[in-house]
Amino acid sequence: MQDDYLRKLEAIEQEAVLAIQNAPNMLELDTARSRFVGKNSGIDEVMQALPKLSKEERPRIGQGANKVKTAIEEAYKERRDSLRRDELNKQLSADRIDVTLPGAGRPIGHLHPLTQVTNELITIFYGMGFSVIEGPEIETDYYNFDALNTPANHPARDEQDTFYTDVAPQILLRSQTSTVQVRAMEKMKPPLRVISPGRVYRNEEVNARKYPLFHQVEGLVIDRDVTFGQLKGTLNEFIRLLFGKPLKTRFRPDFFPFTEPSAELDCQCPFCMGEGCRTCGHRGWIELLGCGMVDPDVLKGAGIDPEEWSGFAFGMGIDRLTMLKFGINDIRHLFTSDMRFLEQF
Ligand SMILES: [Zn+2]
Repeated sequence: MQDDYLRKLEAIEQEAVLAIQNAPNMLELDTARSRFVGKNSGIDEVMQALPKLSKEERPRIGQGANKVKTAIEEAYKERRDSLRRDELNKQLSADRIDVTLPGAGRPIGHLHPLTQVTNELITIFYGMGFSVIEGPEIETDYYNFDALNTPANHPARDEQDTFYTDVAPQILLRSQTSTVQVRAMEKMKPPLRVISPGRVYRNEEVNARKYPLFHQVEGLVIDRDVTFGQLKGTLNEFIRLLFGKPLKTRFRPDFFPFTEPSAELDCQCPFCMGEGCRTCGHRGWIELLGCGMVDPDVLKGAGIDPEEWSGFAFGMGIDRLTMLKFGINDIRHLFTSDMRFLEQF
């Protein structure tokens, strides 16, 4: 009787230890343990039978059962630790970082072509003694029109051409950077030499050459005895620096409300040197900017005595210049933020 129990315990131990050692994961390990030491297990049966045994047999069988239980628990702990170690190693090797691999990195961008050209213009004029000033893009009609000698019935004031806001009837999006010149004349005492690059807005139909948002740079010089000759000299030098070579220029009479006399400046096409090509539309000339001597009334309006001071002003579209410089044939490309396009410049 006694030997039967001991043999049974021995068999349980062998089977349990084997199952525990071979458990492939924690779940099966826990299942194996409760199968051999839990309720209704082989050991449980032996323990239940103890009271029926004789006084002499009871302690030996009881000790035997406890010994087997302890052996199973130890095998369990050993297997559990080994499974945890395996799991940890697996994670460590999965998460391992190879420090010799090149980094993923972030692509280094570059300045937008418009910004590149704006910076170039600033550099050129800065070298000629101009400083850069900026003004608000939301303006009053006073700065956008009245102060620039544009009368109330001028077509430019039409809502067809200008974006008015619903803030107030006189609040609009500036349609030219000349507004900044007026502000400069009010704030700064002459002599002054300033350029004002920035965004302007016009209610225009969108096509390859026109966009409701574009960029201008305007220049203003006010000093004693400023002449049209100085205007020509300044702009000719500007063109030489911009295209990196001396180019012929021609001034055609034009009209702007705030300058008198006014002129449109054409320069010899820098791509064909006047021979005629696609860029210049086979004319050999490129219309570059508008300019003129500041109208004495505009000076007076800004509180500058036209008897003592005179000046010249000029303005050009940065977008057009950018398109010319980079050979871009559609202004809309400048505003789509398409990286495939922008990466080329
Ligand atoms: Zn040409």
